[in-house]
Amino acid sequence: MPETKPVLVVGAGPVGMVAAAALIRQGLAVTVLESGPTISEEMRASTFHAPTLDMLDDLGAAQEMIHQGLKGPILQYRRRDQSVIAQFDFGILADVTRHPFRLQCEQFKLTRILYALLKDKPGFSIRFNARVAGCTDHGDGVEAILEDGERIAGSYLIGADGARSAVRKAADIAFDGFTWPERFLVLSTEFDFASIIPGLADVSYYADPEEWFFLLRVPGVWRAMFPVAAEVSDEEVMTDAFSRARFARVVEGHGDYPVKHRTLYRVHQRVAATFHKGRLLLAGDAAHINNPLGGMGLNGGVHDAVNLVDKLAGVIRGELDEAELDHYDRQRRGVTVEHVQRQTITNKQNLEAKTPEDQKAFQARLAEAASEPAKAHSYLLGVSMINSLRRAAEIA
Ligand SMILES: Cc1cc2nc3c(=O)[nH]c(=O)nc-3n(C[C@H](O)[C@H](O)[C@H](O)COP(=O)(O)OP(=O)(O)OC[C@H]3O[C@@H](n4cnc5c(N)ncnc54)[C@H](O)[C@@H]3O)c2cc1C
Repeated sequence: MPETKPVLVVGAGPVGMVAAAALIRQGLAVTVLESGPTISEEMRASTFHAPTLDMLDDLGAAQEMIHQGLKGPILQYRRRDQSVIAQFDFGILADVTRHPFRLQCEQFKLTRILYALLKDKPGFSIRFNARVAGCTDHGDGVEAILEDGERIAGSYLIGADGARSAVRKAADIAFDGFTWPERFLVLSTEFDFASIIPGLADVSYYADPEEWFFLLRVPGVWRAMFPVAAEVSDEEVMTDAFSRARFARVVEGHGDYPVKHRTLYRVHQRVAATFHKGRLLLAGDAAHINNPLGGMGLNGGVHDAVNLVDKLAGVIRGELDEAELDHYDRQRRGVTVEHVQRQTITNKQNLEAKTPEDQKAFQARLAEAASEPAKAHSYLLGVSMINSLRRAAEIA
């Protein structure tokens, strides 16, 4: 018998909304349950990689994202004295993607765009102020249990409810890993760094043994990210003096930049023990979290959602065996551990390398990667997560 109940998606963040859009595209009914009063307005992520844009294009969202975002064709690595270690042009990936660039666009724009695309579609429904407190797998269907005790029935349930996932906890799935001692401070300013740093690319990582940072342009503002030592109090971080001191490190002698937003994040590396338990499935931050160096968390979450829905749709239509959901776990959990966790940890360790030898070795690897088009192509396949998708496709 084909399933008649909707798939339940918990969380209207970017990953939940991508899962919903992919389900609707497959002709399946979906109910999204979101604890907030409206669609997620988080600024956090702003980097969208090429294959993610290809996927969003298939869902009808990429063109509007590009319209509201900023194309970053160049990736730069610099030293604190502003000398360029290496520079890469994503245009070289035109043979493997329809979107050979990095798109800089805040994540709330994606959730809004998807919501606008979905809200009047037959089969789509969303409930706001619907915090899921638990869920039950009955074997032939699922139930989400809201805070007030209301039960909502579905065929399968996708937990896309972020790092503190209630679904993951209800399914009793471990979330092992570690938390970095330092926190990451994101400061936004309308000051145009490109006006004082010659040749500055829209995405520039600064390697420095004392304090790494990066600069990244989104429409209207530059975002800068700095590590903050564990012993510095939150109160101190939130002062103007603290921001001024961080910004003063970007360009010697230029100290004052108006701060538009400042947010301090605790950063973790954790992966759920499984992404699949019976009819309960995990995707996005509910399944894995990592540091933001390389912009891989949300992108990986979108890759989860697309992979999962491809399989789940076949299972629901009776064309694929339920074992395909284990395949989802093997593929996506596999590359989360092998690629995303490993790469983001390496990215951080490279930028912060403490000894001159380690900094030199990192800089030499970058220079080598940038030295010939074939090497740059190979390097960017990793950076833009195309390699992780190719690897996932190989996992049986
Ligand atoms: C500073 C920073 C920068 C980053 N930059 C990037 C980047 O450039 N590129 C990148 O790929 N990633 C980046 N990330 C990671 C990215 O922000 C996350 O991976 C992404 O938000 C995950 O999306 P999600 O939909 O899985 O979860 P979330 O965005 O956390 O959304 C979860 C949703 O579920 C809802 N919810 C939570 N609990 C419940 C419940 N019990 N019931 C119902 N609803 C619930 C929430 O309200 C929310 O709407 C960054 C992270 C940080 C901290």
